Amino acid sequence: MGASVAYHLARRGVTDVVLLERGKMLATGSTGRNAGGVRHQFSNEANIRLSIESIELLEHFVDEVGHPIDFHQDGYLFLLSTPASVETFRHNVALQRGLGVDVQWLEPRQAAALAPGLNVTGVLAATFCRRDGIADPNGVTMGFARTAQSLGVVVERDVEVTAIKTVSGRVSAVETTRGTIDTRIVVNAAGPYARLVGTMASADVPVDPIRRHIFIAAPGSGQATLDVPSSHIMVIDFDTTFYFHREGAGLLFGMGDRQETPTFDTTVQWDFLPQVIDVAITRLPALADASISHAWAGLYEMSPDGNPILGSADGIDGLYLINGFSGHGFQHSPAAGRILADLITGRDPRFDLTPFAAGRFGRHGAAAGERYVV
Ligand SMILES: Cc1cc2nc3c(=O)[nH]c(=O)nc-3n(C[C@H](O)[C@H](O)[C@H](O)COP(=O)(O)OP(=O)(O)OC[C@H]3O[C@@H](n4cnc5c(N)ncnc54)[C@H](O)[C@@H]3O)c2cc1C
Repeated sequence: MGASVAYHLARRGVTDVVLLERGKMLATGSTGRNAGGVRHQFSNEANIRLSIESIELLEHFVDEVGHPIDFHQDGYLFLLSTPASVETFRHNVALQRGLGVDVQWLEPRQAAALAPGLNVTGVLAATFCRRDGIADPNGVTMGFARTAQSLGVVVERDVEVTAIKTVSGRVSAVETTRGTIDTRIVVNAAGPYARLVGTMASADVPVDPIRRHIFIAAPGSGQATLDVPSSHIMVIDFDTTFYFHREGAGLLFGMGDRQETPTFDTTVQWDFLPQVIDVAITRLPALADASISHAWAGLYEMSPDGNPILGSADGIDGLYLINGFSGHGFQHSPAAGRILADLITGRDPRFDLTPFAAGRFGRHGAAAGERYVV
């Protein structure tokens, strides 16, 4: 998010920008730990609009930003196994189509044909959008950051923001482990740490860190290959949240753990793996013979309603928020960064930001949020 905002500001001629990262490298927070998924298929109109704009930029990223991102548009396949999910998706497919997204409604046998090796027992229906896909999160971040740098933005790594100073309700400076930077504008792009950074300016940023795991399966001993789809199609078993896509010669897969409570701990919980495997081998029997070569955990940055918080912070002039993307922030970073850069530079963002407003939670809360948090 920070790299995208810096890039879009620089493209608007605003180059007096410092991107501060406390890690030794960029893209080693949530961005470096995600599944790379990019999809149009959301339940909330505003998120679909973010996807349409973001995917257009990702499709032309090499030409426009100047960096390869290994974008495979082999589609996202959602499997639906309950009448309630079918009902929800029928409504949302209509919404997506109304916005010009080409989403197909499939019978289970059509879904199975798209992803060889998939077991569709118990699946009632499926949806598929072939312009969805997977891309390289590191490539996208580096593309934004390097181009921003080439235009004059300063990128400082290994520097932690420790305080945000305000005077009469207006941002005046940022204190860091390498000194103070006077500024009238601060963007909080701290991912799962957004609440802590918000607190530095007495802003309430309701974002909780929730651990999510990713496992990588490789062919088992005596196996040359895994019997999994040869394309990079992303398959999501919506009712369990189990998902997978091909990764090199193996398979990347994951699933949400409903027992997780907010934590900054990214230690892999290996005792969660058997629960995932139970679901996984039902849908993809080839996984029973695979070996797990490695795993990692990262943090979703959850807002109360699954929608991002995008725009200015209530009551603190000069503080902007680009937070709470709730597990789909990598793919929305191109559009979100553009919108925030427009707001900061006083342009019309051409986007109804009401569903993303910082102050919305007291008003309409969860009912208006995003239902496809995977
Ligand atoms: C397992 C997993 C799978 C996911 N899969 C997908 C997916 O398929 N598609 C998708 O779109 N999204 C996915 N996501 C979500 C996505 O990774 C996030 O929404 C996105 O990376 C958020 O980007 P960010 O820039 O806000 O946060 P981050 O990438 O975490 O960046 C925030 C940065 O702020 C820095 N920072 C924090 N505090 C300070 C401070 N005080 N001073 C200086 N620097 C600070 C951190 O070091 C960090 O580098 C997934 C997430 C996880 C964990």
